[in-house]
Amino acid sequence: MKPNESRAIFHLQASKVFSASLEGSPAHEYLEEHRGITLETAKSMGLGFVGDSAPNGFEMYKGCLAIPYMRYGPLHSRETPQVSVAQIRFRCVRPGCVKDESGFREKEDHGTHGKLESMAGDTGHIYNTNDLAKYHDEIAVCEGEPDTWTTKQCGIPVIGIQGAGGWKDHFTELFEGYEVVWVLADGDPAGMKFATGVAERISVARIIPMDSGMDVNKSVLKYGEEYLLKKVGR
Ligand SMILES: [Zn+2]
Repeated sequence: MKPNESRAIFHLQASKVFSASLEGSPAHEYLEEHRGITLETAKSMGLGFVGDSAPNGFEMYKGCLAIPYMRYGPLHSRETPQVSVAQIRFRCVRPGCVKDESGFREKEDHGTHGKLESMAGDTGHIYNTNDLAKYHDEIAVCEGEPDTWTTKQCGIPVIGIQGAGGWKDHFTELFEGYEVVWVLADGDPAGMKFATGVAERISVARIIPMDSGMDVNKSVLKYGEEYLLKKVGR
């Protein structure tokens, strides 16, 4: 077994444990109340919660939302395609960090730890490559996992890039053959810089900017799914 295969199996087994702990957890509450993500969407994307049953090696992520980067494809052989997990990212949803007495707060306080953590050795993968593997005429590209959940929940095929500077040269060829690639841009200078950078590489890209100070998740929470669907011509 190659090292990256045993790693993918380790990630997959942990993701299953986290997924089984999602319902009724702080991560479930965060997704539903603060992000507008249904349990159905969350489960379909393998999201989970790192609770007390966390396997060895994941203790430091207790209290976090687990975000697996799932891959659908052959792991051991061409004959038995199966799901694997390339990496897992962890998003802190500990109530002491993300809530106050009036509920989820706009300005979170994570003290000395990070809001988002990747496991050692994990590099920036594309999020939700499942939508790249299926046939679609159009696909959306957005920044970060929450915008990817929201876009997916609106019924739009989508992949997520990790941060405004997360595009890598070898990603570009994955978008050949699409009629339109919608680049959903955050309504700030970094978001526009990201979008124009993608559009320079992909000839069929169309930039869809959100309103000033807004991202896809906030826009859909505020204006509803119709807002986003209209922007991509539906
Ligand atoms: Zn925290």
